[in-house]
Formats: sequence, structure tokens, C-alpha cells
Amino acid sequence: MNKTDIEWADMTWNPVTGCRHECDYCYARRIAERFSTADQCHTFMGGSPYIHVLSNGESIEIHELEEPATIELDKRGKPFPFGFSPTLHEYRLEEPQHRKKPKTIFVCSMADLFGAWVPDKWIEKVFKACKEAPQHRYLFLTKNPVRYLELDKAALLPHADNFWYGSTVADTNAKAMYVNPNAANKLKAFWSMEPLLERVNVSKCLGIVNWIILGAMTGPGSAQRQPKREWIEEIVKAADGASIPVFMKDSLIPIIGEENMRRDFPWGAAND
Ligand code: SF4
Repeated sequence: MNKTDIEWADMTWNPVTGCRHECDYCYARRIAERFSTADQCHTFMGGSPYIHVLSNGESIEIHELEEPATIELDKRGKPFPFGFSPTLHEYRLEEPQHRKKPKTIFVCSMADLFGAWVPDKWIEKVFKACKEAPQHRYLFLTKNPVRYLELDKAALLPHADNFWYGSTVADTNAKAMYVNPNAANKLKAFWSMEPLLERVNVSKCLGIVNWIILGAMTGPGSAQRQPKREWIEEIVKAADGASIPVFMKDSLIPIIGEENMRRDFPWGAAND
């Protein structure tokens, strides 16, 4: 686990890395590919690539590592040995247990743990690791919220106050606009509207999410893709009307002004 600059979490934890979505604003892909050692000779300690067949019949290569991957003569573990290719890092699963002080943990900041390509057994292993360290609050985030429903239907989705299920809503095409993971039960749910790329009517989320995170695109190409002030104000007004707390990332300060920033957590102060 690592401390993070992400303002709404204390730490990130990446037992799974890699993602097959192709978001053009993805920072995780840039980092993973920059530090990829896929073209170098690896010493795989107890793991090797295997072919995973998806429900649509497509075959993809995924990886499972029981120990950190190393390169000959360099025994330091490589964080992204396969770049952005889906990888389970088994050796990271116990990390939450080793941290006794309660933390808010963003699970899989370098992956989409609920992507259609992720085997159920990987997700089950991550959930099991979370349950074995119940002192923490776990924040999950996906662009594929239908997987929450599928897992729930299979009785694989934990219902617990310290499990928060997030969906990314960057624009009106987001799947969360059409899928309500909270339909049949009372999960802790949130929308991460970051990067907010167009005006989004949040009326669909009122009553089904417990929290909204707002932020602007950062990094290369972001100058032309900043949210408009009125988009943010509309969301905040609607959220206020429904008593949904709003957390604005610092990327919004130049747009909305520090005096108008909201940094609300649904569980109270940041580390409550
Ligand atoms: S879902 Fe997240 S990790 Fe995957 S490509 Fe998009 S931004 Fe990157």
C-alpha cells in the first residue's frame, strides 16, 4: 500500500493492476507503460501468464504473480512487469492486515477491478483480503458498474458499511447513468465525476448514491477539456437538494474558486 496525493483517500492499494478500457485521459496507463519491464527478461517467482477466456469468447492474456517479478541481476520487485496488462499481485493481498491504524483505501487505483475481463476469483481474493482487515474503509471504483450487479446476483458482493462502491461518471455515456448498483439493496455507493468532461444531469443519481466526487482533467491535453463552472454549480445544487455530500478535488479551484470548494466526506471528517 502507498500513501496517496488523491485527496479523498489515505492510501492506494493495488493487488490488481492493468486495465483494458481505453480512456484517453488515463494517467494509470501512462505510468504503467513507462515503468513496464515487459520487454526484459523476468524471473517469475511462482507465476506465469495464462489465457483467460471472456464470456464473449474472446481470449486474453492475463498474469498472476505469487511473488514480485524481478529482472536478472536486479532483485527489486517491478511494480508493472507487464505494463498495463491485467495482473494479480498475490503477494500484495495481505498488505491491509499489516496496517493496524484505520485508513481509507482506494482499491486498485491502477486498474479497473470490475472490468469484464477480471476473473471472479481475483475479485473474491481482494474482497477476502479486505474482510480480513476490517479496520479500514475500502473505496472501489469502476467504469463497469454492471459487474457490481452480476457479483451481487451471485452473492459475491460484500454488503458492509466499510465497503464503498463507486462508479465513474465523466460524461453522459457513462454506464452508471443507466445502471443502478443500488437498485436491489442498500450498498454504500458513490459517483466519481472526474474528469468531468461534459454537462451531466445528476438527477439519475439522486437517491442512489451517498457521495459525489468532482474533479477536472489534469495532465497532457487537459487545458482544452476543463469543466465549465455552471456544470459544477448545477451538480452541487442538485446534490444539496438531495442532501448528498460533495467532495471537490483541488483541480477545481481555478474554475470554482477556493471559497466555493466543498470537501465533504459522507462518513464525517477525512479520517473519522
Ligand atoms: S478505467 Fe481507469 S484505469 Fe482503466 S483506462 Fe480508464 S482511466 Fe485508465
